[in-house]
Amino acid sequence: VASPSRVLVLSIGEELLQGRVVDTNAAYVAEQCLRLGLEVVAMETCGDAPGQLSQVFHRWQNQVELIISSGGLGPTEDDRVRAETAHFLAVDLVEIADAIPPLERLFQRILLQDAPVHFLNQGRMPSGARPWPNVGGTAWAFEVALSPTCIFMSLPGPPHEVRAVWEEGGLGASLGERFGATEEMAFGTFHTVGVPEAKIELEIRQMLEPGRNPKMGITAHGKVVTLSALAKAEAGRSAENILEETASTLASALGPLLFGRNLDTLESVVVAALQNSGQTLALAESCTGGQVAQAITAVPGASQVFTHGWVTYADAAKISQLDVSADLIQERGAVSAPVAEKMAAGARARSGADWALSITGIAGPEGGSTDKPVGLVWMALAGPDGVKSVRRQQWIRAGRAGIQQGAVRDALDLLRRELLNLPSLDSTPPTS
Ligand code: ATP
Ligand code: MG
Repeated sequence: VASPSRVLVLSIGEELLQGRVVDTNAAYVAEQCLRLGLEVVAMETCGDAPGQLSQVFHRWQNQVELIISSGGLGPTEDDRVRAETAHFLAVDLVEIADAIPPLERLFQRILLQDAPVHFLNQGRMPSGARPWPNVGGTAWAFEVALSPTCIFMSLPGPPHEVRAVWEEGGLGASLGERFGATEEMAFGTFHTVGVPEAKIELEIRQMLEPGRNPKMGITAHGKVVTLSALAKAEAGRSAENILEETASTLASALGPLLFGRNLDTLESVVVAALQNSGQTLALAESCTGGQVAQAITAVPGASQVFTHGWVTYADAAKISQLDVSADLIQERGAVSAPVAEKMAAGARARSGADWALSITGIAGPEGGSTDKPVGLVWMALAGPDGVKSVRRQQWIRAGRAGIQQGAVRDALDLLRRELLNLPSLDSTPPTS
């Protein structure tokens, strides 16, 4: 079996070195390479200054078969990738067939004057290169051999343009055909919520051991932990078959902690569950400020299931909008089980929805006490069988945004378990 092609993922731009832009292109390209069976051996970032790209070429051209870069193809003077590559190869820049007239017309139409040479350079490439179309923007991508054993792929910087070249432009498929793994592979991700990464790891320890098929990875994003699996065909079994076996092993090991695969999100699972049962949802949020409503409405088709969302941040709003009694707030405090329950019941009654979920908590950094520390959140769910409340707290110091995001995940998980008739997650691990 030929060893997989080695790849350097290169990100180009001063703004990356200065920490002004987070490098998401490298993550995207690396994941795409993984899916194709290309081996990313390194990621590097370099600036736009003259000479830097040539140095990278000198250092890497004998170490990898592919250098895939993003950035530096735009219309401004600091976008030098084309010219530097041509200089490195000692060739001229040539026009990509039919690329220049549309660029001239575009510039004329938007800026009402003739396009300068820098702008038109977006339709040029080093002589001998192959152009790749970019439906997401104006700069063409290109590929060119730096040596008989090393190919350079130059993509634009804006992330949606990287995807446009890779996906619609066909670069990814072409890379897969020419350099991808010859053996069949299958890749999938599996998402859990409700317990920390360390707990998930304990449950599936043997599967994570190195050298196993599929090759597994584990990452946490707040309360959601994602497992990845890269399966290879072996001993007469297809990669897809091995991946599905992994899926069922995970399902039995993790039970209701597992909420979805690949592009599934907690909110998409909740919306799908409501659609399937033909039921509707209303929300009464306090400390999350509408973020649960935002998550739900980000899912296409939410209009079929989502009726109302209140952000009742002040006590007076909880009283006037959701019929929580002033005395109750006075006695128990706005962050308490009975207030959460009344908020949910009020939202359900006023909206007429089948389900109403409420959240009230202390996002901090001020406002905590010994009884009610920062990060404490009460949420309640009112449904056809009554109202129940649960207490949630973050596992680690999360900051205001982290507490809000954690509460959103907890609330969606509460709904998911209720709608899918799964056992409730009634104990949370102790805070550390
Ligand atoms: P442009 O036509 O926009 O100038 P370009 O190909 O020259 O395109 P850059 O100028 O390097 O690309 O980057 C354009 C913008 O794309 C940057 O300001 C930044 O917001 C985004 N960008 C560039 N590189 C990355 C990266 N590695 N990860 C995420 N975003 C990036
Ligand atoms: Mg630029």
